[in-house]
Amino acid sequence: MANELILIIEDNEKNRRLARDVLTFKGYRTIESETAEQGIRLARERKPALILMDFHLPGMNGIEAFAVLRADAETSTIPVLAVTASAMTEDRQKIIAAGFDGLQTKPINVKEFLDAVAEIVARRGGAA
Ligand code: MN
Repeated sequence: MANELILIIEDNEKNRRLARDVLTFKGYRTIESETAEQGIRLARERKPALILMDFHLPGMNGIEAFAVLRADAETSTIPVLAVTASAMTEDRQKIIAAGFDGLQTKPINVKEFLDAVAEIVARRGGAA
């Protein structure tokens, strides 16, 4: 049953809306933040099943935010899927090295994106 809560951290309104639309169409519930700082607060308060993390954000970037989430016992086990427009090898390497639970490149391929989300959520459900 795909009714898990997913936190979308993304500063671009169009990208946020697309993620929200495809996820809610599948039955997921979503909450959103335009900044990493607010996203971290939401993650602590709402304990989402998954966080979608943009790389380039105003203020703290996605990798810095990921480190904060992992360092906090309240959020350390929440899976985080990086979603980045950057095809730059350097950014991809940073994301992979940081230990994110997955990486999707924007513009997202809707099927691949939903498959990745479902897989991570199922993996977590199985482990809980
Ligand atoms: Mn961005």
